[in-house]
Amino acid sequence: MANHKHVRDYIRTIPDFPHEGILFRDVTSLFADPRGLRLAVDQLLAPYAGERIDAVVGLEARGFILGGAVAHQLGTGFVPVRKAGKLPGAVHAQDYELEYGSATVEIHQDALEPGAHVLVVDDLLATGGTAKAGISLIEKLGAQVIGCAFVIDLPELGGRKLLEGMGMDVHTICD
Ligand code: IMP
Repeated sequence: MANHKHVRDYIRTIPDFPHEGILFRDVTSLFADPRGLRLAVDQLLAPYAGERIDAVVGLEARGFILGGAVAHQLGTGFVPVRKAGKLPGAVHAQDYELEYGSATVEIHQDALEPGAHVLVVDDLLATGGTAKAGISLIEKLGAQVIGCAFVIDLPELGGRKLLEGMGMDVHTICD
């Protein structure tokens, strides 16, 4: 095994996926490596040492993998924000804009206690639309987002600006 040092060294870039002209940042190679996965989880959590976190919310789908590991490390529960139609119980729904068209994400109505301190986790921050929709679902439940942590930031797409403009603490490992 190569002696990688940084999280970015474990991430592959795959051209023309899912469409021609798109450079897809593939974190499956990061997740598959035991050192890479641990490094990513540790670095996602580093700025929140000593902070009260009651729950971790992960955004579908790679946010589930990271968020589950982060929640386990913190000793909190894990709550999924899922694409529409996947959660079996009563949900709140939030629409958001995509490059072409729109999408909807959902959260179980009883997933978080009002006043809970929540850390949002996903693999990649692009326009910030997905995270913004997730945050509004968390806030609908009366919980408070204390941070949004991502492995990758694509700064030219403006997600960090959008979330920071909403007063969010945004933490990313590499861009
Ligand atoms: P946003 O809503 O524009 O910020 O897009 C972020 C969402 O799209 C995240 O849930 C990511 O998992 C996904 N995403 C967008 N581009 C990529 C990529 O290059 N690699 C992996 N996921 C991506």
